[in-house]
Amino acid sequence: MSAPVDTPPPSKTHLLSTLLSTIEERIIPLTQQGVSSGSKLFGAAILSRTTLHPYTTATNNERISPLLHGEINCIQQFFTADFPDPTTRPDPARDCIFLATHEPCSLCLSGIAWSGFSEVYFLFSYEESRDLFAIPHDIEILREVFTVRSGLGEGQGGRAPLYNRRNKFFHARSLDDVAGAMEEGDDDERRKWVVEIDRVKGLYGALSDVYQQGKMAGAESSSIWK
Ligand SMILES: [Zn+2]
Repeated sequence: MSAPVDTPPPSKTHLLSTLLSTIEERIIPLTQQGVSSGSKLFGAAILSRTTLHPYTTATNNERISPLLHGEINCIQQFFTADFPDPTTRPDPARDCIFLATHEPCSLCLSGIAWSGFSEVYFLFSYEESRDLFAIPHDIEILREVFTVRSGLGEGQGGRAPLYNRRNKFFHARSLDDVAGAMEEGDDDERRKWVVEIDRVKGLYGALSDVYQQGKMAGAESSSIWK
């Protein structure tokens, strides 16, 4: 019997548990430092598609520049600091998974497309960024700059989305969608993951409070859109 050409993808439960622990154990500690100095609470990681080992983890650094969103920071760090040699760099499309704590904005969606990452996951949706974190800019930029009129920005529940989550460049999925897509008859497993996703989402409440308090107190940030 010949060996398989490609290593099989990780199971949904292995994927969910690793993405959630990457957020909790690696991204959130970095985010705690960022929000206390005036940066937003968005973070990202790039992981091995086969082992799910995180190659790069980063958070927003708007204190330095309004373009240093968590995802952009992560991509920059992956290409320049962690894998400067293109001959040893994991291939973004073939070897990597991209994780964002919040559904990537239009800048970051383009950054992900331009750098070739094809498999994207996120924890919070645009609507949650707006409603839970008082950060409505993702939705507003898509509507105001790109004249996206078909989408109401209210999720995928029967209404047109603000961008194509599955497109030529990448396929973006929320962790809620991954849990929801577990096999029929796996209700207990699905419920368990919904609870676990909510628990990790809950960890962001305290981070958001620190960011919002800093915003009110005029914390230093180079970003106009807070
Ligand atoms: Zn962004």
